[in-house]
Amino acid sequence: MKVNAYAAPQAGAPLAPTTIERRAVGTNDVLIGIEYAGICHSDIHTVNGDWGPQPFPLVPGHEIVGTVTEVGSEVTTHKVGDRVGVGCMVNACRECANCLRGDEQYCLNGMVGTYAATDRDGTTTQGGYSTDVVVDADFVLSIPEGLDAAAAAPLLCAGITTYTPLKHWDAGPGTRVAVVGLGGLGHMAVKIAHALGAQVTVLSQSLKKQEDGLRLGADHYYATSDPDTFEALESSFDLIINTVSAGIDVNAYLGLLAVDGTLVNVGAPPEPFQVDAMSLIGARRSFAGSMIGGIALTQEMLDFCAEHAIASEVEVITADQVNEAYERVLASDVRYRFVIDTSTI
Ligand code: NAP
Ligand code: ZN
Ligand code: ZN
Repeated sequence: MKVNAYAAPQAGAPLAPTTIERRAVGTNDVLIGIEYAGICHSDIHTVNGDWGPQPFPLVPGHEIVGTVTEVGSEVTTHKVGDRVGVGCMVNACRECANCLRGDEQYCLNGMVGTYAATDRDGTTTQGGYSTDVVVDADFVLSIPEGLDAAAAAPLLCAGITTYTPLKHWDAGPGTRVAVVGLGGLGHMAVKIAHALGAQVTVLSQSLKKQEDGLRLGADHYYATSDPDTFEALESSFDLIINTVSAGIDVNAYLGLLAVDGTLVNVGAPPEPFQVDAMSLIGARRSFAGSMIGGIALTQEMLDFCAEHAIASEVEVITADQVNEAYERVLASDVRYRFVIDTSTI
């Protein structure tokens, strides 16, 4: 079927309306009428070629919420009318050790991204800035009742990307967590870490968003542009989640970790980091990374957010505002996620 979409025609070019082909609904597929699609900074990295050459024209979008409009004959998990979500993955082998453990994002045979990836049938995937999508039922999440559809969309990437390391590194009562960067991922990290019971500190470039940060659940807020911050907070965190989309001085942040502390990097800038051995060995510190999260954990995160009444702070836009929204994200002028109302495509 032909559906309306917004695509980047080539690297760095503005997105424009187009039509794309979606596959016929297979026996284990779900057809979703998309309602909202979040704008993740990864969409911008991809379109701008930060991560290397991509297949164009390219429809970004991996924070998708919509309603099921058709299901294949073997689908038992979702039915017509259900509110569902799709995140960053639409396929994986489901048989390798990592898939069997629930880490489909680390599939040894290659997970299939929601856009700009080659699916297992050889076609190129196209993302959520469109009106409809066909996805294998095993990669379709249920959106719990009580979550607003637009505010739930960013949970499918920003939510799971921050929930996963917070759970993996045991954030909870008694844990001192710092979140670097208060953007799409950062604001979800603050909300989730607070809901898990951790003590939360935001490390932002300035104090411009301090009031918001404290309202979202942070206990403390510091500006990283102030050199005193790094002295005042030396050796004081168990876990730091870095969500910055650009390079940072990793060694300065490692110095903020207590003994056995971990700096988990989820930001994905194109340039490599410089890590000084001394920053690690002086306090048995770890420097780690984490990518999104498995399907079962994504459902757990959605249920957790519904239970704690948390979702994203969103600015809903029409499709023709996408390019302007990209500019604002690049200028760190987002509070705290742009979400496209896909009925305007
Ligand atoms: P975002 O909304 O743009 O937030 C990034 C924040 O980083 C900004 O709001 C800003 O916060 C801070 N920042 C930006 N430029 C900076 C600079 N030059 N120096 C210091 N701080 C800066 O982006 P996002 O959607 O949250 O994504 C963040 C990063 O995570 C991107 O690189 C994205 O590709 C990556 N990502 C990774 C995964 C994964 O699985 N690991 C998943 C999704 C996204 P302040 O204004 O508060 O300083
Ligand atoms: Zn994303
Ligand atoms: Zn696998």
